[in-house]
Amino acid sequence: IINPQVYYYYVAPGNNSKLIIQTMQKRKNWQESANQLLHFQWNMNDKNFKYLTLSQSQIQIVNHLPNHRELTMKCNLIKNLKYFCQANKRYVWDITPLSFIIDLYTSENDLNRVLKEFIFFYEQFKPSNSKKNQLNYSSKPVSQYVHPKMHHSLLDEEDNYIWILKPNEFNRGRGIQFFRTIEELKQLLKNFNKGISEYQFSQGQIKSSSFVIQKYIQRPLLLDGRKFDIRVWVLVTHQFEIYIFNQGYARLSSEMFDLNKLDAFIHLTNNAVQKHSQNYGFFELGNQISYSELDYYTNGEFTKTVLPKIKSIIVFSWMAIQNTFKKCKYSFEIFGYDFMLDEQLKPWLIEINTNPCLEESSPLLQQLIPKMIDDAFKIVIDPLFSKVTEPTDWDHLLQL
Ligand code: ADP
Ligand code: MG
Ligand code: MG
Ligand code: MG
Repeated sequence: IINPQVYYYYVAPGNNSKLIIQTMQKRKNWQESANQLLHFQWNMNDKNFKYLTLSQSQIQIVNHLPNHRELTMKCNLIKNLKYFCQANKRYVWDITPLSFIIDLYTSENDLNRVLKEFIFFYEQFKPSNSKKNQLNYSSKPVSQYVHPKMHHSLLDEEDNYIWILKPNEFNRGRGIQFFRTIEELKQLLKNFNKGISEYQFSQGQIKSSSFVIQKYIQRPLLLDGRKFDIRVWVLVTHQFEIYIFNQGYARLSSEMFDLNKLDAFIHLTNNAVQKHSQNYGFFELGNQISYSELDYYTNGEFTKTVLPKIKSIIVFSWMAIQNTFKKCKYSFEIFGYDFMLDEQLKPWLIEINTNPCLEESSPLLQQLIPKMIDDAFKIVIDPLFSKVTEPTDWDHLLQL
């Protein structure tokens, strides 16, 4: 009798690791172990892999791509999109809202210099000045579906010109602040510098030395008067195959949209924020709805016109960092893309997440997430070890 080969995996705790373990337990020849040399490991980050200790000929697979931070750190995403667009004479602010990066500043002087640069940017796009400044729109839009001059559809009343400040290194809505004036921004940055955050649900203090300042989307599409964003799962393999999961979900806020109250429960749609609201789950379970419900709200436009635009933005984001790909052995990654829609149903890329939330916080997610993970493993794990390929709900977008 020939012993079947046994393969070992390890799943680090956190973010519904139980589900990852269950998904592996369904697979023949796989055993969980913290002590063996590993054929597969699932980690929250890629810093401490017990990695490459098997012989060269053996397969070891990990759930992060070496260059993922080029997209998943908020500042890097903006830098890379901007750089790629400049090099290709494209207009970047029709993919992602106007964004400005504040890098590490070390002194009051430094901060003042950065603020000066931002003021220039801020003034240029102020509603009263943007008409005069149409020269700025000389480059081509990234995609044909938006006219660059239209980006003010986001917008914008002169006396209600709102920006959002996001710390580079945080997630789940933590540390996010709003401001209208430069004075308000200065105050926020000073508070951050001291490590003090006004953030109301903050677990502990938040320190960050780089930030993205982004134009607030002031006229989002609302669902029954409430704001939402869309979570899209994207799978990328070490051979740079890019897939999109054919289902995703929208995350709604718990309270009616109101620009005069810059309150997290109204304006931040993260589940980690909304679940603290008194209204959480009142309108829909887990404040989440499916793509087909989005279609219901938009008369089918979501599937017909919005999703194709979302797909082209996903492809574009990977083209922007194509030159940072390193050939690496067997890794893959599942990303969570955040998109918002404006009143004209135009999708805007908000950010790209590593370790997207896998908590099954509604019946909808109980149905989607296990299938999403199992199907991802059918693409990135099973064929390597058993030469089996099965159909999945991941749609192949392209290979770079
Ligand atoms: P995090 O990593 O904390 O989730 P995001 O950039 O996704 O950071 O922002 C959190 C939430 O804030 C988003 O889900 C969205 O609801 C809201 N948000 C972020 N950026 C904007 C923007 N430019 N305009 C409008 N809403 C935004
Ligand atoms: Mg995030
Ligand atoms: Mg987010
Ligand atoms: Mg992030």
